[in-house]
Amino acid sequence: MRKETQCIHAGYQSGNGEPLALPIYQSTTFTYDSTEHIGKLFDLAAEGHMYSRISNPTVSYVEEKIAALEGGVGALCTTSGQTATFLSLFNILGAGDHFIASATIYGGTINLFAVTMKKLGIECTFVDPDAPEAEIEKAFRPNTKAVFGETLANPALGVLDIEKFARIAHKHGVPLIIDNTFPTAVLCRPFEFGADIVVYSTTKYMEGHAVSVGGAIVDSGNFDWTNGKFPEFTEPDASYHGVIYTKQFGKAAYITKARVQLVRDLGVYPSATNAFYLDLGLQTLHLRMERHSQNALVVAKFLEKHPKVEQVNYPGLKSSRYHALAQKYLPNGCAGVISFTVKGGKQAAVKVMDSLKLCKNVVHVATVQTCVLHPASETHRQLTDEQLVAAGINPGMIRLSVGIESAEDIIEDLNDALGNG
Ligand code: PLP
Repeated sequence: MRKETQCIHAGYQSGNGEPLALPIYQSTTFTYDSTEHIGKLFDLAAEGHMYSRISNPTVSYVEEKIAALEGGVGALCTTSGQTATFLSLFNILGAGDHFIASATIYGGTINLFAVTMKKLGIECTFVDPDAPEAEIEKAFRPNTKAVFGETLANPALGVLDIEKFARIAHKHGVPLIIDNTFPTAVLCRPFEFGADIVVYSTTKYMEGHAVSVGGAIVDSGNFDWTNGKFPEFTEPDASYHGVIYTKQFGKAAYITKARVQLVRDLGVYPSATNAFYLDLGLQTLHLRMERHSQNALVVAKFLEKHPKVEQVNYPGLKSSRYHALAQKYLPNGCAGVISFTVKGGKQAAVKVMDSLKLCKNVVHVATVQTCVLHPASETHRQLTDEQLVAAGINPGMIRLSVGIESAEDIIEDLNDALGNG
C-alpha cells in the first residue's frame, strides 16, 4: 500500500459483518477459556491482549498503522510525546549512562533531558546540530549510549542532517533516535536516512485536531543491539522470566522490551478512546500535511515581504539557511510551522499576538486551526537565556502554526495584527 492508502487501511481492516470503523475496545481486560492460555500470554509465547496497561486491540491497530507508515518493525503508543521521548531513551540507558542531543529541540524535551533525566543519573550533552562531524564527535564518552535529534526543530525550524547524525552515531556503535513530530511519516521517513528509532508527539499533526494528547515510538528493527554495548537486550531480564530480548524477538527486541518492561512498570499506555481519535486523524494525515505545507509557504512568503517583520524562518523559503537540507529531507513540503520575528522585540510581538482574531493564541501547534505562540514568554520560559539562544529563540519571535483554512483569511488576520504591532 502507498502511504495515502496506509493512512486509511493499515492496521484495522473490517471483516465480513464487522464494523467499517475501528472499534473502540474500552475494556481493561480480556477473557480466556483457560489458565494455560493466559500463562502463554504472560510468557509472551502467544499473541493476544490480557490487560490494557500493556496492550489493547484498538491501540494495537493504530500501532500497526503507525509502524506501516514509518516502515518500521513495530510501534508503541504512549500517553504523550514526552513519555515516548523518555521511554525511547530509558529503554537503552540507565543511571551512569550518557547520551548526546541536538541543542535545537523542543523546550520540554530539553528540560526532560537536562533536569529530570539528570536526577535519574542519566547525563545529556547538547551539541550544535550544524557543527562539523568532528566537533559533534567530541561529545562522545565511553558511556554514551544514544544520539537524539529532531527532524524539524520546534520552534527554531532547523532541518537536521539525519544522515550526518546517523553516521556519527553508528561510528560509535549507538542508535540514532529522531523526533519526527513536525514532518510526520508523510513528509519524511527518517529510517530511510539511517535513523534507528523514531518518536512522535501524536498530539500534533498525527491526531491533528487538538482533541487528544499522545505519543508513539517506532522501531526500524535495524539497530544491532548485540554489539556489546547493550547488555539489557542480550542478557536475561530478571523482571520478565529471564527473557533475552534479542534472542526471543530478533528485530523487534527494542520495541518489545519498551512495552513489556517499561510500559508495564510505568503505566503509560493510552486509552482505547484516545487511540480511536488518533486513528481518525491519521486517516486524513496525507491530505492535511499537503495543505499545511502549501498554506505555510504562501504565508511565509507574505511575512517575508512585510515591513514590520524582521525575519522569517521557514525551511521552504529560498532565504532559509536550511533550504538545501529541506529539499533533501522534506521534498514534498515542510509542514505548517513558521517562526517569525517582529520588529520591536518582545513588546511588539506580544501586541501582535494579542491583536490576532482568526489565529488562536494557544499552547499548541500543528493542528487544523491556525495558532500562534510566543515561545520566550510561554513554552520556553523555563529555559535560561543561554538555552534560549542555543535553541534559536529570539524574544520577538512568534511561532505560527499555519492551519488548513483559506491562506487568504490567515494572511488578512496577520496583516491586520501586524498593523497594530
Ligand atoms: N516533541 C515535539 C517536537 C513537540 O513539539 C512536543 C510538544 O509540543 C513534544 C515532543 C512533546 O509532546 P506532548 O506534548 O505530546 O507530550
